[in-house]
Amino acid sequence: MKAFYSDRFVLPLPAGHRFPMQKYRLLRERVQAELPNVVLDEAPIAADFELARVHEADYIERVLTGALDAREQREIGFPWSLEMVERSRRSVGATIAACHAACQGGFAVNLAGGTHHSYGSHGAGFCVFNDAAVAARALQAEARERGERTPPIAIVDLDVHQGNGTAAIFQNDPSVFTLSLHGTSNYPFSKEISDLDVALPDGCGDDAYIEALSGALSTMFERFEPAVLIYLAGADPHVDDRLGRLALSVEGLARRDSLVFSAAAGRDLPVAITMAGGYGRDIDVTVDIHLQTIQLAAVAFGARRDSSAPDTLRSADFI
Ligand SMILES: [Zn+2]
Repeated sequence: MKAFYSDRFVLPLPAGHRFPMQKYRLLRERVQAELPNVVLDEAPIAADFELARVHEADYIERVLTGALDAREQREIGFPWSLEMVERSRRSVGATIAACHAACQGGFAVNLAGGTHHSYGSHGAGFCVFNDAAVAARALQAEARERGERTPPIAIVDLDVHQGNGTAAIFQNDPSVFTLSLHGTSNYPFSKEISDLDVALPDGCGDDAYIEALSGALSTMFERFEPAVLIYLAGADPHVDDRLGRLALSVEGLARRDSLVFSAAAGRDLPVAITMAGGYGRDIDVTVDIHLQTIQLAAVAFGARRDSSAPDTLRSADFI
């Protein structure tokens, strides 16, 4: 299974900034050390024309040239820097690359991404460009260029914060289904309308969460038949997350990931996974949760490859 990283591009943040920049390097190092079946590749840069399928030209220009005003930078939560531009483009490029790899092999991962608070016209909440939205539009545009039908895409957002930017971007686009499970009293305090929103109360634990997710996935698949699934596997529903307010255990998060992966595998759906948020009091726990997601995806990837092997052998017999 392939995984794309962008942690070489580190933002210069003021001391005490609450964004856990080092989690990306820690995660890549642990994938490298502990998951030998995961092939790591540096994330490519998303091109301007790819960003422009989602973001307004004026906003892209202001990000690239450092012309964001103080209010816009405050809303994003990062001071502008060249590194911020590079990292934001790489993070989007990683999700596009993960989508391509998933379409080939079933599952693939962006070791960052999940920047779902970004709208077409502005960034917010540590999100400059919306990686899942740009990747979804890239897959659709590329299919149309090949003369194929527009592939319907599901964005399953299980970060603890609502995917407000993603919901707004696809509000009038029936070819992309947005599902968001989030804490009702979490940021963003003014929510958008996804195709399916499930707002969970503070303190929601494993069983209630899994029941809600199971119902939401069933509803989504009744209403929509995706060709590709983009999964935002935020670590921030965990009980010890500083920004989360829910109470999932590490085991509960494994059940969550497995539920998504088995639902997708049962439908033979390619899955591109992004890490999204994770602000644990102990950063190692956040990295453990992200690593667990990748490990479960690698197992699901292996199982899918094995189950397709007999077909390959059978056709080889006839050659
Ligand atoms: Zn989050």
